[in-house]
Formats: sequence, C-alpha cells, structure tokens
Amino acid sequence: MAEVAAERASEMLSDLKRAGLKMTPQRIAIVRLFAADESHPTAQDLFERLQPDFPSMSFATVYNTLDALTSAGLARTLRLGGAARFDPNVDPHHHAVCDACGAIVDLPVASIDATTAERSQLRARADGFAVRTVEHVYRGLCAACQKAQGSEAEPA
Ligand code: ZN
Ligand code: MN
Repeated sequence: MAEVAAERASEMLSDLKRAGLKMTPQRIAIVRLFAADESHPTAQDLFERLQPDFPSMSFATVYNTLDALTSAGLARTLRLGGAARFDPNVDPHHHAVCDACGAIVDLPVASIDATTAERSQLRARADGFAVRTVEHVYRGLCAACQKAQGSEAEPA
C-alpha cells in the first residue's frame, strides 16, 4: 500500500510539473498526503490536515492542486451529496458507502465500461442516451458500525 502511494505521488508530481505547475513544498505535501489517502477526502479535509505544517497555505492552493490532478486524469471526483470528494484511485472500481459513519470503500472491478446490453437498455429507457461507463454505489453499514450497533440490535 505504501509502495502504491509513493508510486502514485511521484506520477502525480511529474505530471503536474509537465502541466506547468510550479512544484512548491506546499504542492508536494498536498500530493503526497492525497496519494496515500484512500478515504476519499474533500479538499477541506486535506486543507485541515496540512494546516499545522503549512499555516500560510490557502484553501485555494489545495483545491487547485486537486483540480489539476483531476484534469490530468490522475484523480477522480466523487459526488455523493455535500462537498466533492477526491479519489486518487483511477483504476476501475465501484464504491460502498456506510450510512452510519460515511466511510467510502473501493470495490475494484475489471472494467466499468457499459456492456452491450446496458448500452441498448439505456438507449431505450433514457430517450437515446448513449451510456459509456457504469459506476455503482452500494449503501449499507461498514464492519465497525455493524459491530457498534450489534450491541443494541437483535441477533440476526
Ligand atoms: Zn461505518
Ligand atoms: Mn474510490
């Protein structure tokens, strides 16, 4: 995991450099923190965690860096209501969301490309809509929240 994050971070940094962004210590810290973060943080989450080390850093610097990564295809945004969340995992995957604590877990899949059946179904049901990708959001309770609620709930 640490290896994946380090690899991701250096790929992100060289791509941002190529895109013409100046590599300040702040930007490098943002990228390193984000590359290792699988929790789907908001820009605000990362901003708050970096504040103690970079008290003069602006929120805009964090947001713009994440935005540049997204434009370069090295991050994705995830909108589940509320502020946009950022995802350093650009491999195909679905998400499982905990209704109690809000945790978001990646569910890797081989592909999110729409199948031929999904394409023709969508075309028929959504007035000619041409679907390209299909991403699922599963909702329920994470293991920790099940455990926490288990003490109160009836046994299944
Ligand atoms: Zn939970
Ligand atoms: Mn994800």
